[in-house]
Amino acid sequence: MYLKSLEISGFKSFAKKATLSFTSPIASIVGPNGSGKSNVAEAFRFVLGEQSIKSMRGKRGEDLIFNGSAEAGRVNRASVKVVFDNAKRILNIDFDEVTIERLVHRDGINEYLINGSQVRLKDVIELLAGAHIGASGHHIISQGEADRILSANMHERREMIEDALGLKVYHYKKQESIRKLEKTEENMEQVESLRKEIAPHLKFLKKQVEKAEKVREMREELRGLYREYLKREEIYLAREKNTIAKEKAQPAHELARLDKELEHARSVLEKSKNKDGTSNEVIALEKALADIRRERDGYTRELGQIDGEIGALKRVIAKEREQQAREDSKTVYLKDVEEIVRKVDQHIGHSFEKKSVEELQSIFGSIKELLFGFISLHKTTTAPTDKGVTTEAEINKLEDSKKKLTAQSENAEVREKELGHRYAVLKDSIEREKDSNRDAEKEVFRIIARQNEVRSILNTLNGRSERISLEEDAYKRELNEAYILAGREAVDVKSIVVDPHFVEPRQAQEDRKRVLEKLKIRIEDSGTGNADDVLKECKEVEERDAFLEKELTDLVLAKQSLENLIADLDTRLDLEFKEGILKINAQFSHFFSLMFGGGSAELQVIREKKRKKSDTDLSVLLDDEAPLPENTEDEDGREGIEIAVNLPRKKVKSLMMLSGGERALTSIALLFAISQVNPPPFIILDETDAALDEANSRKYGDMIESLAKYSQLILITHNRETMSRAGTLYGVTMGADGGSKLLSIQFDEAVKVAK
Ligand code: ATP
Repeated sequence: MYLKSLEISGFKSFAKKATLSFTSPIASIVGPNGSGKSNVAEAFRFVLGEQSIKSMRGKRGEDLIFNGSAEAGRVNRASVKVVFDNAKRILNIDFDEVTIERLVHRDGINEYLINGSQVRLKDVIELLAGAHIGASGHHIISQGEADRILSANMHERREMIEDALGLKVYHYKKQESIRKLEKTEENMEQVESLRKEIAPHLKFLKKQVEKAEKVREMREELRGLYREYLKREEIYLAREKNTIAKEKAQPAHELARLDKELEHARSVLEKSKNKDGTSNEVIALEKALADIRRERDGYTRELGQIDGEIGALKRVIAKEREQQAREDSKTVYLKDVEEIVRKVDQHIGHSFEKKSVEELQSIFGSIKELLFGFISLHKTTTAPTDKGVTTEAEINKLEDSKKKLTAQSENAEVREKELGHRYAVLKDSIEREKDSNRDAEKEVFRIIARQNEVRSILNTLNGRSERISLEEDAYKRELNEAYILAGREAVDVKSIVVDPHFVEPRQAQEDRKRVLEKLKIRIEDSGTGNADDVLKECKEVEERDAFLEKELTDLVLAKQSLENLIADLDTRLDLEFKEGILKINAQFSHFFSLMFGGGSAELQVIREKKRKKSDTDLSVLLDDEAPLPENTEDEDGREGIEIAVNLPRKKVKSLMMLSGGERALTSIALLFAISQVNPPPFIILDETDAALDEANSRKYGDMIESLAKYSQLILITHNRETMSRAGTLYGVTMGADGGSKLLSIQFDEAVKVAK
């Protein structure tokens, strides 16, 4: 018991809410013609999602809503609610009770609700399909539709049977898969075309990236080369500068010294230029010396004269002395002496008598005169004695002069000596000066020569310095260029450890430089713009392509899995269909012979032959492989179902030849057979029994009872026999207000109501 109740409100003739509770396996709905019974069956179709208004006997959605009557006004919406017992989870939803409700508004808008929540129609259909319940399914046989299965063509029949067998879900899935497949293929095409669109650009970008990569590698290589080159250059320049500075120090120092020496030597020479002064002095000295010598000569001459004079005088004196001596040794006569002595004695005698000093002095004077007179008397020559005195005095005078002259001469000598000394010193100094001048000149020449030598050394060194400075400039330019071409790392050479004592020929650096230059040219020639931009763009395009590729792969996989799924569905469909047919046939034959008291019936799966529009087209008939003529209706050779019947005691094989009752019986047998094989939760049969006579009604009743073991039955009927099999009876009447009314009734009442 899955079906619990049906609530109809505003639907068709059910203006007011009416609820049917299905409490027994078989429920019958009875009532007079036009009371609204079929509307109940249609209410089922409606709530289960039927989209064909026509199959609910309407033209528009509005026709499903109670349209009012003379008595009652129309309503604005129709709603039907069906309640399932879902304890066994026949519906794949985790509720013990499931309510499905559908509403339609006058504007044609439909609403679907599952357990009160608004859902899509699709959700309702899916939920029901899982339970083998469909809107226009096999389990709702509308009035007059009983033999629809017989009158349908073989393909329609197949569809109906597939539906009944619960294979619709496979179809549904297959359709969905095909739709998905189509969508997938569409997407694949789109993705492929997108990939095709970006492919040339990507190819171009990849090439650019390859180039950029090569350039990057070259730059990397360049960086390495630069690092070594720059480091070595840095060391080389530092060392070279240091060496030159060291080498320069000595000559520079020497040159400075030489400058000083030169200055000195020059000053010496300069001084010698001022020799005039000295010469004047020499001249003055010489003049002074000559003067003094002349002076001294004067003195000497004078002294000579004086000496001569003194000698002459002395000779005079000596002559005199000789004469004197001869005089002195002259013999005097004693009487002369005695005379004189007597005279002196006389004077002395007189002195005794005198007392004053003057008198004494005069006596003495007289004595003296006596004596001198005696002497002079006895002298031979009469040479005046005063002459000798004069000579002496002259000599003395001369001696004094000599002394004076000697002193003057000595003085002059001293002065001469002094002057001579000064002169000698001066001379000496001049001589010396002359020597030192020559030395100084020599020194100047030597210094200048040496200076030239040193300057040449320094010039060479300066030349080297200049070269180094040029090389340094080049190094700086190179640093700059390295920074631009190979980045910071290329110039950041501090971290590089190189043996600073390692000396290599300059050629090695030049070789390095040459390699560098070549590489630079190659990098420049490669001429890729901004590698980062290219890389970025390529990465983006690659990512997009990878994304598309991935998507394509996913789509291919999806396509494969969809194709597999479709193939699988086809296989399962085919298999289950064939199995189902076998099962149905067994039941069909059983019900058929039950209904007809013998005979047999079966469903035959037939692959329809290709049919030509014109059977008279000989070329087609004669040549199977000939192309089909235009306008040929080409059946696709799908499998369909034919019904073969074998009535007892009759040779009738064709359905066409069956009577109305026989058709009804056959279709009922088939319907029941189908229902038995794959029983739906409930079956609604709207006057399927209308054409049956009493005997067949009983058989029909029997079958219903056996059918009710598997499915709940809702039977709309006028047939008393059928009513008698029902556990629940509902009577439907048409009220005076034009609305259907529902009442639960007993069998007897039902019989009455049905009439
Ligand atoms: P029968 O025994 O002859 O088959 P029935 O009991 O099955 O009759 P229905 O066909 O269910 O009767 O009901 C038809 C009745 O419902 C008609 O009288 C029709 O006027 C009424 N009806 C159908 N649609 C509407 C509507 N939208 N509004 C009002 N009444 C409607």
